[in-house]
Amino acid sequence: MLIHLYNSLEKKVAPFAPLQGNTVRMYSCGPTVYNYAHIGNMRAFLFADLLQRALRVVGGYDVDWVMNITNIDDKTIRDSAVGSQAWLPDMGSQSGDLMDNLMKLTNFYEKSFLDDISILGIDKNHFLAMPKATDFVWGMQELIKIIVDKGIAYISEGSVYFNVTEWRKQDFYGKLFKIDFDNFKPGTRIDSDQYEREQASDFALWKTKKENEPYWEFELNGQKCDGRPGWHIECSVMEKELLGLPFDIHTGGVDLKFPHHEDEIAQSKAGYGIEPTAFWCHNEFLEVEGEKMSKSLGNFFTVRDLLAKGIDPLDIRYLMFSSHYSSVLNFTFDGLAATHKARQRVQDYIYDLFGADIGNWESGIGTGKKVLDLKDKVFSELANDLHTPMALGAIFSFINNNPVKELNLGEKAGLLYFFKELNGVFAVWEIAERKAVALQIPQNVIELADKRLQARRDKNFAMSDTLRDEIKSFGFIIKDAKDSYSLEKM
Ligand code: AMP
Ligand code: ZN
Repeated sequence: MLIHLYNSLEKKVAPFAPLQGNTVRMYSCGPTVYNYAHIGNMRAFLFADLLQRALRVVGGYDVDWVMNITNIDDKTIRDSAVGSQAWLPDMGSQSGDLMDNLMKLTNFYEKSFLDDISILGIDKNHFLAMPKATDFVWGMQELIKIIVDKGIAYISEGSVYFNVTEWRKQDFYGKLFKIDFDNFKPGTRIDSDQYEREQASDFALWKTKKENEPYWEFELNGQKCDGRPGWHIECSVMEKELLGLPFDIHTGGVDLKFPHHEDEIAQSKAGYGIEPTAFWCHNEFLEVEGEKMSKSLGNFFTVRDLLAKGIDPLDIRYLMFSSHYSSVLNFTFDGLAATHKARQRVQDYIYDLFGADIGNWESGIGTGKKVLDLKDKVFSELANDLHTPMALGAIFSFINNNPVKELNLGEKAGLLYFFKELNGVFAVWEIAERKAVALQIPQNVIELADKRLQARRDKNFAMSDTLRDEIKSFGFIIKDAKDSYSLEKM
């Protein structure tokens, strides 16, 4: 089915088709791994997951999905500094080697991120790659040199800045986000990775080394510029190296339109001569009482916070799809409870479809008109700019009008087949008989429990206690038995 998506560059919904063959090459700005991601961040990653799954299931494409790990930026450097309050004992000990500290902190949060997204139903097998910025600094240095040599960036005291005034003579700056150039002061510079449009000015491609910060050696046109890359240049390089330019779709939250994506477009075009992509898709915010959920406002919940309250991670996933990705979604616990009920209603219907005579439903034989009409309606809503609330609405309306006991066997088999296909997009239900799914234990919790069993065998009780707490943070209680264990949901 042809998929239409809202393109932030064209500012309208447009039909989408990959540039080459049947494979969609898609890049998503990933997490900055300086802390646990909150569920506001997760909205961005679940939106990207929804999109890539819909491209596969509804669009019939293959997807090469790349999501980067931002391990170099102002915050990862700040929080890995010696004496930082953000340092946790589980990261090991801090040393005098600042690069080692940066890697210890960011590897720790990268691992926690991978655990969290897996619990939220993002399948690691769907990624082509998850590149880390630290592995591509060489490419950033190459790109910076090209831009400097073209006269669109300049060196100042060991840092390198993109010359916006020069660039504006060659191309439009402000493609994704309207910038008020009346207040623009040519030649002013901004060093921080994140800034507002009122601060639009020459931005840092490379920042000279500071005391007590890790740095990379960089000799640029005879000048010593040891330091580290700015955040925007990281994505310009990783996407080019892993997907090639131009690729098909770039995703991120709306706050990334400026400066991150605007600067990414300018750098890539200035250096490589090609814009990253013609299709930009952005998700709106998850809010709390009218404000963006964010670390800095302190109004956030991590996945672990919610699991510890006994929330099912699939309800968090479903919650994100209960509103259209381009509308603001207000987070409340009441909303989450309503989400649980709605998801469970469909789940119960699926359980009920499994009757004694269901037979070989997985062959798809038996899919009658009733089911095909439903599929057409639901998939059309998804193909229409991922309209998940309308798609779910169509499912509820069907369920309400078609009690399982009134369906014939062919319809039941066809519906099960359809729900299995649909779950390829939503991934919030279990397509199994009721009794077979009494307790779903995430793979990483099982791994932790196995590790703990080994720690007990080794009589490493400190480790065993730490692992028990970690298992608890995912909402499970581990009970010991002789050389074995059992897990229960909290
Ligand atoms: P960061 O880890 O800060 O680089 O952010 C990762 C992703 O989360 C980016 O795509 C942001 O745009 C997105 N994001 C951050 N806060 C929110 C929020 N409250 N709602 C939706 N997306 C968000
Ligand atoms: Zn990015």
